[in-house]
Amino acid sequence: MNDKRQTVNAKRINETTPVQRVRSQVADAAGVRWLVKRDDLIHPQISGNKWRKLKYNLAAARQGGFDTLVTFGGAFSNHLYAVAAAGRLFGFKTVGIVRGERAANLSPTLQFAESCGMELVFWSREAYRSKENAPDFAETANRHASFYLIPEGGTNELAVRGCAEMIGEIAEPFDYLTCACGTGGTLAGLIAGCDGRGQVIGFSALKGGEFLVTEVGKLLENHYAATSQTKSSPKNWHIRTEYHFGGYARHTPALLDFMRRFEQENGFLIEQVYTAKMFYGTEELMRQGGFRRGETVISLHTGGLQGRVFNSEL
Ligand SMILES: *Cc1c(COP(=O)(O)O)cnc(C)c1O
Repeated sequence: MNDKRQTVNAKRINETTPVQRVRSQVADAAGVRWLVKRDDLIHPQISGNKWRKLKYNLAAARQGGFDTLVTFGGAFSNHLYAVAAAGRLFGFKTVGIVRGERAANLSPTLQFAESCGMELVFWSREAYRSKENAPDFAETANRHASFYLIPEGGTNELAVRGCAEMIGEIAEPFDYLTCACGTGGTLAGLIAGCDGRGQVIGFSALKGGEFLVTEVGKLLENHYAATSQTKSSPKNWHIRTEYHFGGYARHTPALLDFMRRFEQENGFLIEQVYTAKMFYGTEELMRQGGFRRGETVISLHTGGLQGRVFNSEL
């Protein structure tokens, strides 16, 4: 694993990302010390949690002698984008199985994926729902005799392991960690990495995020089993489900107003699918007195800026 890490570092992946102050009048008024871990700075194309989740999967693919990565995603998936970039950077062929018909004009995400050499395969929503159990999968599998399968969103036990490592990079003492959730893999990693310290709050970017409670619980159990740790599942975490702004990839004018203000005050960018919802929710909890004076809250910037809605205005 260590040799692999060196290869990885040679590719200019910056894992030891800084922790810096978040400027917010709400945080100041609440007397809360608000910090952000800037994982958006890991790599311009394999950003944030997508790198953390891919890291040990890439090492496993290499060690297993696989030459192709196969994975799943929608037309705007940060995960597909990251896998395509990682494949190019680390010398794997990549296949992206995409939900829905091929559009006449591909999304910028899919255009980028193809430009990295990713082969895009478009599946009906019905086939997509069954993923590797769909009859269509055999056809893709047969064309690539030796492939390493990465699940949708990149979440599996190795992903949890990669995300857990981040806690070791945080030197600042903290009371709370907050992060955005899609599949819950990143949140599970943070909880595992905290090992009982502090409180971890996940903000669901999807409507109906209640499923995440079960999902994250399962991911933690698998993680402890795979790493031979005998631990009862930690209780120092919960999920906020009310900051989805209409659902996955949806947003409202209020969210975009928040984004503009936050970016202006802080001098770094966020995006509307995940991170803006999380920063908004975290600030809202400060406004409502969810944290005590003198407490430190660290929010994780999971990256994803390729999908930022204002990019076309830059
Ligand atoms: C994918 C993604 C998430 C969600 O991560 P999960 O591990 O699936 O919960 C959060 N933020 C950004 C920017 C992402 O791209």
